[in-house]
Amino acid sequence: MINKTRPVVGIDLGTTNSAVAYIAKGKPAIIPSPQGQRIIPSVVMLDLQGKILVGDAARAAQVAMPDRVVAAVKRKMGSNEPVVMAGQAFSPQEISAMILKELKSFVDSALGEGEKEAVITVPAYFTDEQRRATKQAGELAGFVVERIVNEPTAAALAFGLERLEEDKHILVYDLGGGTFDVSVVEMMSGILEVKASAGNNHLGGEDFDWLLVNWLAGKIKKSHGIDPLNDMRAKSLLKEQAEKIKIELSSAEKTAIHLPLVVMKNNRPVGLSTEITRQDFVGLIENLLTETVECVRRAMADAKVEVSEIQEILLVGGSTRIPRVRELLTAFFGKEPRCDVNPDEAVALGAAVQAGLKSGELSDSGLIITDVAPFSLGTSILDEHRGMTRDGVFSVIIPRNTTIPVTRTERFYTATPGQTSVQVDIYQGEHELVKYNHSLGEFLLEGIPANYRKVEPIDITYRYNLNGILEVTAKCVSNGREESLTVQDALARDSEQQFAASVDKLQALYENAPKEEPDMDSEYYLPDFADDEDGDGAATASLEELREELGMLQNRLAAIKQESNELTRKKLGKLEHRLDEAKLLEDTADIQKIIDEATDVLIDLEMEAEE
Ligand code: AMP
Repeated sequence: MINKTRPVVGIDLGTTNSAVAYIAKGKPAIIPSPQGQRIIPSVVMLDLQGKILVGDAARAAQVAMPDRVVAAVKRKMGSNEPVVMAGQAFSPQEISAMILKELKSFVDSALGEGEKEAVITVPAYFTDEQRRATKQAGELAGFVVERIVNEPTAAALAFGLERLEEDKHILVYDLGGGTFDVSVVEMMSGILEVKASAGNNHLGGEDFDWLLVNWLAGKIKKSHGIDPLNDMRAKSLLKEQAEKIKIELSSAEKTAIHLPLVVMKNNRPVGLSTEITRQDFVGLIENLLTETVECVRRAMADAKVEVSEIQEILLVGGSTRIPRVRELLTAFFGKEPRCDVNPDEAVALGAAVQAGLKSGELSDSGLIITDVAPFSLGTSILDEHRGMTRDGVFSVIIPRNTTIPVTRTERFYTATPGQTSVQVDIYQGEHELVKYNHSLGEFLLEGIPANYRKVEPIDITYRYNLNGILEVTAKCVSNGREESLTVQDALARDSEQQFAASVDKLQALYENAPKEEPDMDSEYYLPDFADDEDGDGAATASLEELREELGMLQNRLAAIKQESNELTRKKLGKLEHRLDEAKLLEDTADIQKIIDEATDVLIDLEMEAEE
């Protein structure tokens, strides 16, 4: 039945970028912001007036005010780790809710105010907790969360809708900002089945940026003897630049880097002028890319699909624009991946297809989807083998990559004579011992008739639905007594109070943001000097630190001297002498003066040499 009163939208809540889409005239379409932006950075900021900013404005402030800005919160979803923004602690779901609220404002502008349902995507490898946190973020933002869908499934859906008649195996390779997922999807007469998924939810474009940041910082450290990564502002600046350089290297073979000011040293600017080639960059990220190819291999082995059986390789996520990614996949499969699907929008568009299936708008499309369980689900048992007993053994009930929705029942028996109750422990994971897996909950089934050991059968049923929600039932077969636990409900009860508190907190933030004019003397414009006791912007160093710095200057001087002409050598000879003298001084102010003079001369000479 078509639900006209409550539109359903599809949302890609990405680590780096987010987007929202819906079905318009039978086809998925992005809902842009009122300013026309199709995707927004998943970056949130609490500004100086106490106002929440999301997207480009927040991202632009990342360097100037890193303490007020939060990025890549998706990596923390499902954890209890507080996220600090402008000195206030938020849960990861509260920050994600702010991104979703922004997307909801686009939907409200385009489709009118009122209640909206949402299908939100998550990486296939998100755990139950991460999925639940995502659902909660959607609810905090004011959506009715209809379903949580795996990102590669969504991408395949966007692709599948247009080519229903074809039967094939598709490999969805999704390398975004913070996560990597690969899925083998089978498409047969309009039925999309995810056969297997693998991935790493801590691998993506952000990691490439940081490798490049370390490379840039290493250059500065080598030539100026200062580690810019100790300075928060310099670190943010290098991160921003690294991403730009990385993106440039996707279209250019090499790029020039010219950063006049990265960090201050002794009240002087330290910069960097250099060049990097695509090959240098590939050298930095090659190990991570090889890891993604290993995941491809694993997903294919799990799906029992050979390389020759993959007809299409679908690229999703901004990082698949890196030419080396395409080269590696072409070499692995012996054919080129498809580039006709917009890697930034495919997931949101696919989520909209799922939304359309739910709302009824696409019910006559002939499309049906299934998904797979991303982890094995099972229970803890006492194992007996050749007369030995082992406690805490993981007995799998729903193996990883089983097609869902699924219901599976396994029969177990009481372990001790006269046993009248069993404890059912629910675990998720792949290890044969439960202590290495993830506990999802536990409950007790009582009222079992006392009997000899191994006589009373207990049936344990696991029901896993498309939202990744698990219901476990234990039944005593002889008297029909049963007990069950829905994992989501169990957690929801614990966090009900916390959820209500989050709702209040967000409401207060959005409604009570002070409206006064911005304070232009604010921290926006103040440089960050950690040890600035006298307030002049310069850090006061100890005698020991100054002597250490003199040593570093001597090394720099020696390096420059080797490459210099006669005239410069003479000039450097005098400076060398001054530095030697300074090492014998006791007065820190005098030493600082000599350090400042020498730094000036060396910076000039180094800049000349670089040009
Ligand atoms: P996503 O999470 O799919 O939005 O992907 C975002 C990631 O893609 C970020 O790490 C971006 O830096 C990266 N990205 C976007 N465009 C390019 C490009 N042309 N070359 C390399 N990486 C890119």
